[in-house]
Amino acid sequence: MSDVLDRIEALRAEALTAIEGAADTAALEDLRVRVLGRKAELPNILRGVAELPPEQRGAVGKAANVARKAVEARLEERVAELAAGELDARLVADAVDLTLPGAPPRPVGRLHLLTQTRRQIEDVFLGLGFRVAEGPEVEWVHYNFDALNHVPAHPARSRSDTFYVQPPDGGPGPGLGSPDEIVLRTHTSPMQVRSMEAQKPPIAVIVPGRVYRRDSDATHTPQFHQVEGLWVDEDVTLADLKGVLLAFARALFGDEREVRLRPHFFPFTEPSVEVDVTCFQCSGTGALPRTGARCNLCKGTGWLEILGSGMVDPNVLGGVDGYEDLQGFAFGMGIERIAMLKHGVPDLRLYYENDLRFLEQFG
Ligand SMILES: [Zn+2]
Repeated sequence: MSDVLDRIEALRAEALTAIEGAADTAALEDLRVRVLGRKAELPNILRGVAELPPEQRGAVGKAANVARKAVEARLEERVAELAAGELDARLVADAVDLTLPGAPPRPVGRLHLLTQTRRQIEDVFLGLGFRVAEGPEVEWVHYNFDALNHVPAHPARSRSDTFYVQPPDGGPGPGLGSPDEIVLRTHTSPMQVRSMEAQKPPIAVIVPGRVYRRDSDATHTPQFHQVEGLWVDEDVTLADLKGVLLAFARALFGDEREVRLRPHFFPFTEPSVEVDVTCFQCSGTGALPRTGARCNLCKGTGWLEILGSGMVDPNVLGGVDGYEDLQGFAFGMGIERIAMLKHGVPDLRLYYENDLRFLEQFG
């Protein structure tokens, strides 16, 4: 019997030594399983007490029980001590320094170059007395073509040039180009007629917005932006057109700029002109100042085409009540093109790729 009691004492001493040597709570948990778990020796001695001779049961049972409780108690104390230390260590390691400044403000970004350019254009014309209006991007063929004096066979009406919209109820078409069909507007010009219908003369309005054409390459995208302009009154002339566009060109491209009008054709203006501005890179000389090399921007011509315009065709004015006997001019420009010229952007698609290396150069 003393053998068993000696063994119990040895197990107790061994366990207590191991507890003192455990480095952390995880090691203590391992130790608990090893000395008090189901397969450990001390609990097995306790479970075997009933099989001992009756005269040994009391002493062995008591010694094993005392040993187990001593080991359990010391384990719990050490767990508490080590856990407190571990918490302290973690608090130190994870300390938040409340005296540090907050996260630096994130840059808020900037307006897209096309938005900047649109606003610049709007500012110029607001200063000249124009008002800004917007119109629907999904438009009747009537407003997009017919009311703008496009003949029924005009090529822009074709399905290969223009996006037709199938009306929800089936509707006519699509794509025959009749006035009651629906398209994604191919220009901002439908707002010429819509604006006149909405307002008695005189009228001076510009209309920025998205337009859509079935085109895609380095200088064309299926969706792009235009600004339409319209000024109609009793005596607005081609000279007024030239003066307004000269003011615009100088505001955007520099005070030294000149403009010239070249005859052209548009269905809804008569006469129609294309408007060029003197190249701001070579000051209209066609040659670069230092080297004398041919100017790449204007291709040596000294002129940059910036927009199309003309006197509003009497057929357009005649279709709107109250405007039949008046006269005025209209113009339309591509915002992408203006920004390309102003900033030397080589490819239209750069505007829409959302590459920050490109976008961050502006503004
Ligand atoms: Zn040039």
